[in-house]
Amino acid sequence: MEAVNPATGERIDTYEEADLPDVERALDDGWGAFQDWRDRPLAEREELIESAGEVLRENKREYAELMTEEMGKPVTQAVAEVEKCAWACDHYAQNAHAYLEDEHYPSPAGTEVKTVYEPLGIVLAVMPWNFPFWQVFRFIAPYITAGNVGVLKHASNVPGCAEAIEEILRDAGYPEGVFQSLLVPSDLVDDVVADDRVRAATLTGSGPAGRAVASAAGDKLKKTVLELGGSDPFVVLDDADLEAAAETGAWARNQNGGQSCIAAKRFIVHSDVYDEYTDRLVDEFESLTIGDPFDEDTDVGPQARQDLLDDLDDQVQASVDAGANVVTGGEPMDRDGAYYPPTVLTDVPAGCPADTEELFGPVATLYEVEDADAAVRKANETEFGLGASVWTEDRDRGERIARRIDAGCVYVNQLTKSDPRVPFGGVKESGYGRELSEIGMKEFVNRKTVWIE
Ligand code: NDP
Repeated sequence: MEAVNPATGERIDTYEEADLPDVERALDDGWGAFQDWRDRPLAEREELIESAGEVLRENKREYAELMTEEMGKPVTQAVAEVEKCAWACDHYAQNAHAYLEDEHYPSPAGTEVKTVYEPLGIVLAVMPWNFPFWQVFRFIAPYITAGNVGVLKHASNVPGCAEAIEEILRDAGYPEGVFQSLLVPSDLVDDVVADDRVRAATLTGSGPAGRAVASAAGDKLKKTVLELGGSDPFVVLDDADLEAAAETGAWARNQNGGQSCIAAKRFIVHSDVYDEYTDRLVDEFESLTIGDPFDEDTDVGPQARQDLLDDLDDQVQASVDAGANVVTGGEPMDRDGAYYPPTVLTDVPAGCPADTEELFGPVATLYEVEDADAAVRKANETEFGLGASVWTEDRDRGERIARRIDAGCVYVNQLTKSDPRVPFGGVKESGYGRELSEIGMKEFVNRKTVWIE
């Protein structure tokens, strides 16, 4: 497995891929560890996740630079990602006992009836490269604190991050085997899923990868949670604060090089403010600093891999060939590294890639609509349903629109974001199940009814 710096194209390091005997050993260790881990007092597991948060904070610059080197995230955004991971650790350190408390019911006379929450066993996490720490800590903090044991198959372009995360848990004091990273290629994932000791799986990534893991798990009747792509609408109504909507919209599209499942992708704008909003948004896009991701002033670094940039370029070119208009950006930058500029497309014809597919890079599509009903129709005119953002000075109107959008979360006058306190996930082709909060934590537990006469 090769780690390549996308800002330079240079190889950083090579890692030995795990094979089936390695998988077997890891699952043996994991299953052994589970027998003890499941019975540890929850308070002890809470203390350990708190320590993991401390290790993250102590070394945040080191981890941030590792991400920046392996996948090109601007270093200031990488530091913020590490801090967010530590926040998720704190959140479960403080709330796990409340979330997992036994639930009592009005019991028939002479009985005591309750639901208790117990871990399942080994849970497999197949994770992507775009938030190489956050996606994994979003898994570790709830599910391992609940008493499960984790096995990580991280994306092949961030093996250093995978190893660093394993080390963080070791440094925090976790017992051996409770969390392991397996540097397996994706074609061995089916074998991991099929193993009896693996009780459930979760994947964040593309639709095809999600389908593959869910099919393998379904074949063995194992539960999955899938967090897949999105083509989130960013709806700007006629009474929106245009300055805030343009500033936040530009950030919502371009942070992390535009490589976020919940990035604002389709800007759906009321015709009364369309021209002014377009000008403002384009100004914001053009004011972003593109460059070396290690530079503290950089807003947009390279795309994470050259092949991802090539795919994005193909999508944009096909859309332009179909009639889309490039207002700014529109082709890869003439410099070393996988750089693609912030791009705005208008007059996007129905059915072209920019209209129907996820654009996993800094490319916004703009649509003009005549009223709020048309905005809702356009927002829902996608196979995806992850997040959405609605901009209006009228909060009640914002809520009414939010309730009509088919998505796992809708933010009014705010960009779509994940937060350990609230559930996160999608509908339609964006996946199913929820992560984070109490609801997320309970995805991978046995909700056991205990009836005592
Ligand atoms: P993938 O979905 O291919 O990768 C995500 C994870 O799934 C990686 O760990 C990958 O491993 C693994 N994987 C891939 N195929 C399989 C499979 N058949 N069985 C089991 N595991 C598998 O994403 P890409 O990196 O190829 O990116 C392609 C597109 O996916 C992006 O352009 C974007 O649209 C979407 N994506 C969405 C993300 C999100 O946050 N929802 C995150 C990343 C990508 P390996 O790296 O070894 O292939």
